[in-house]
Amino acid sequence: GKNCCRYFTAEMNTTIRRRVELGNRLRRALKESEFVLHYQPRVELAGGRVAGVEALIRWDAPGIGMIPPAEFIPIAESNGMIVQIGEWALFEACRQARLWQTAFGMSVCMAVNLSARQFLDVDIVALVRRVLEQTELPAHLLELELTESMLMQDTKRVCRDLAALRELGVKLSVDDFGTGYSSLSYLNNFPINCLKVDRSFVSDIAVNSGNEAIVRAIIVLAHSLGLKVVAEGVETSEQLAFLLDQDCEEIQGYYFSKPLPQDVMTALLQEGRVFNLGKIG
Ligand code: C2E
Ligand code: MG
Ligand code: MG
Repeated sequence: GKNCCRYFTAEMNTTIRRRVELGNRLRRALKESEFVLHYQPRVELAGGRVAGVEALIRWDAPGIGMIPPAEFIPIAESNGMIVQIGEWALFEACRQARLWQTAFGMSVCMAVNLSARQFLDVDIVALVRRVLEQTELPAHLLELELTESMLMQDTKRVCRDLAALRELGVKLSVDDFGTGYSSLSYLNNFPINCLKVDRSFVSDIAVNSGNEAIVRAIIVLAHSLGLKVVAEGVETSEQLAFLLDQDCEEIQGYYFSKPLPQDVMTALLQEGRVFNLGKIG
């Protein structure tokens, strides 16, 4: 009608119905404790020690099964539930890091992902301060993962909030670095500690020399600015050897470990696992 023609398929209908259903269930999911955090080790390349972990949220929805964050986080962002879910994840991650610290005397840095909406709709500085107080986690053991697009929004306010977070003693990293629309000038203007090289560049190491050059350039750029580098999505010994060669500080990826449930991660920390880098290069 109206002089145009639209395509509509059965799959679109299913996708939309699922989106609406998940959106409706998100609120109850939080009340019913359907979310859990898994933890993926960040391995220090100087020695193979677990320097930190990244908290990655999982939703086990009864009757549906495991729903990946890539599917439900965008829905939670559009209906506003991300504010409460994000607050839960931050609290839970800090509580766990504090438990590991008191149980094993271990300083495991806990990295938590933030969504842009948390930055805009919430007083993030007040929230982080409150969570640190309530969980008694020392601020230097918390690292907040930001995205490039987050840093490109309302720059003045973001700048003020980031400065206040650093003032608290929290660390800041840029997640998925190199994939967003951004102006590199923020690296100079914002008090960032660390860049996380996106998996898409890392996965092409040893396959695509263009992406190898990008990874090398990101590491040089970061080091020149005094920033640490974490490579994401490392799966092969070739990728690891290349990153070792480029003096990358930490890596995260299936090569060492997938994200692990809390009890498995706890056992790994308890045994003081040191990952073997010896067979490489
Ligand atoms: P991210 O923060 O970039 O997290 C890394 C993602 O890469 C994780 O996916 C992780 O499981 C996956 N990964 C790690 N190593 C490898 C590897 O070697 N190979 C491959 N193929 N994948 C690897 P996951 O857990 O599905 O999370 C996806 C995204 O969802 C995260 O990307 C993050 O943006 C978001 N997310 C997860 N938890 C939270 C949360 O608590 N709050 C917010 N706002 N976002 C979250
Ligand atoms: Mg992340
Ligand atoms: Mg990432």
